Amino acid sequence: MSKEKELIGKTAIVTGATRGIGRAIALTLARQGANVAFNYLSHDELATTLTEDIEKMGVGALSFKVDIKDYTQVQQMKDQIFEKWGRLDILVNNAGIVRDSILAMMSQENWREVMDTNLNGTFNMTKAVIVTFMKQKSGDIVNISSISGVHGMARQVNYSASKGGIIAFTKALAKEAAPFNIRVNALAPGFIETDMVAGLNEKYLKQAIEQIPLQRMGKPEEVAEMVGFLLSQRAGYITGQVIGIDGGLGI
Ligand code: NAP
Repeated sequence: MSKEKELIGKTAIVTGATRGIGRAIALTLARQGANVAFNYLSHDELATTLTEDIEKMGVGALSFKVDIKDYTQVQQMKDQIFEKWGRLDILVNNAGIVRDSILAMMSQENWREVMDTNLNGTFNMTKAVIVTFMKQKSGDIVNISSISGVHGMARQVNYSASKGGIIAFTKALAKEAAPFNIRVNALAPGFIETDMVAGLNEKYLKQAIEQIPLQRMGKPEEVAEMVGFLLSQRAGYITGQVIGIDGGLGI
């Protein structure tokens, strides 16, 4: 089957898809034939544009203004998707934020918000789908971690802890869910050109790029390509892995 069509008839959930990596993932999965449901926090216009862009590819789109931190709303979102499309096949836990500072200056609020969004948000969405995946004995999950979660990054103790937690979550769930034919993998991107990175100090960013063997930042589409691969049958024997997409930065 051609790569363009291999997710036809499948239903995917992508969290945090209005911008950046999530948007590229949603469009890649739609191009591969999946119906795509997504959530976001605040950018209504971007959500409308994404819905239109997904539908232009001839597949279904469902948009939810649902805070990934909210356990109950996330459950309700899953129920509505299931009601509409009658099945669930794919989950990409992508929604994430940074609140950077050295630990000495880090507020409890900035610690909590990052953990609640990145790690607890991954729990909330995965918990919402896992029983359905187990009952149907199929389902594929990709969690977006970070190079910070593998190696740790100064000024990002909160973010590194949340992304390291996602890696452990991925490995534990991969073992637990494998008997139900559910695969769970994680990606660890390095510096990717999105709003998240645009917020970084210019001098810091220039220095960071000099450390990347490929001497450039990655593109959201380069992350999305790997997600599309991991969710396809071409990756049917891959589970519990953490794949770096970082231009060699993690070497
Ligand atoms: P981004 O451009 O800042 O976009 C973040 C997306 O997440 C937006 O769609 C945003 O919605 C949504 N979001 C944020 N908080 C949310 C919440 N509480 N509930 C629901 N949706 C929420 O980020 P990005 O760079 O694409 O990053 C995507 C993922 O990749 C994150 O997990 C990030 O940690 C990870 N990552 C990024 C990089 C990088 O260099 N960019 C590197 C490694 C890992 P709104 O538009 O409504 O705000």
